[in-house]
Amino acid sequence: MNILYVLYVYFQPDAIILFLYCKRKTFISGKQQVKGSRRQKRVHSDNEPPPIYKRHRERTSIPHITSLTPSVYHFSMLLVTLLAVVAVAGATPAVPRAATAMYNPDLFQGDIKGIAGQEPGKERAAILGEQYLWPGGVVPYVFGNSVNSYERSLIISAMDDFHARTCIRFVERTSQSNYIEIVSNDSGCWSYVGTIGGKQRVSLDSNGCMYKGTVIHELMHAIGFYHEHCRNDRDSYVTIHYENVQAGMESQFNKDTYWQYVGEGYNYESIMHYGTYAFSVQWGVAKTIVPTDPNVILTEAYDKLQMAQSDANQINNLYRNQCSF
Ligand code: ZN
Repeated sequence: MNILYVLYVYFQPDAIILFLYCKRKTFISGKQQVKGSRRQKRVHSDNEPPPIYKRHRERTSIPHITSLTPSVYHFSMLLVTLLAVVAVAGATPAVPRAATAMYNPDLFQGDIKGIAGQEPGKERAAILGEQYLWPGGVVPYVFGNSVNSYERSLIISAMDDFHARTCIRFVERTSQSNYIEIVSNDSGCWSYVGTIGGKQRVSLDSNGCMYKGTVIHELMHAIGFYHEHCRNDRDSYVTIHYENVQAGMESQFNKDTYWQYVGEGYNYESIMHYGTYAFSVQWGVAKTIVPTDPNVILTEAYDKLQMAQSDANQINNLYRNQCSF
């Protein structure tokens, strides 16, 4: 019966309360036996409601709990503690949906669906070629029917970050032939890089992508940017721990082969920088991107509320010939 009780305690958190009451009751009972009926009389004469532990006991049908001797009680406590330690030690933090939505194993660097005018392996920090930029810095967009009103307002607030700090302007499409279609019923968060011509999709899955930082990140891909941690100079700033990367996902950390800087150095805070457990074999435990600077803590794009100032500067630099200030 004691074992059943221990199992009960282990699997039902609310029974911790019962345990504490049991402990109290066990020792009160012992005192009552030693000191006689004086305290017992006082307890009953106060007309106090029945102790909670009794109600628990009746409800959970654990008989004679107060008959546990101190030694049995302590042995049970020790066993429960050991089980709890084993449970905590063996627990693996679940990968947040916001991360799995962004780290798609079948997409280039996790969330790039395609690259304007380029073959994989010839990517760079910012896209080369004026023809792959949005003329005038104007990006026409439409919402798919799947995007609800809350999601629309969130996405527009992300666009406002561009409007406030860069020369990029997202405008509702009228008759433009090149535009982005934002949908929330496709799988994962992803975008193309640069303008590919015609309608191009930006996927912001309702399940995991509706964070302002994620939206800014994907829109920044759409206007021509890659990932910060894949910059050609990244090895001076981060170490990629390939031993912690999921098998087959090593190429997600390939450095840009051809690159151009657009006026800013490496920035850990860039909204285009992945977090420290991207494509990890064990989220929250096995780090894949470790900053050279030990004081730096990488955060995920979805945890950021705006682009870094260096991101804004790079956008303005990349579009300096397109934007009419
Ligand atoms: Zn990305």
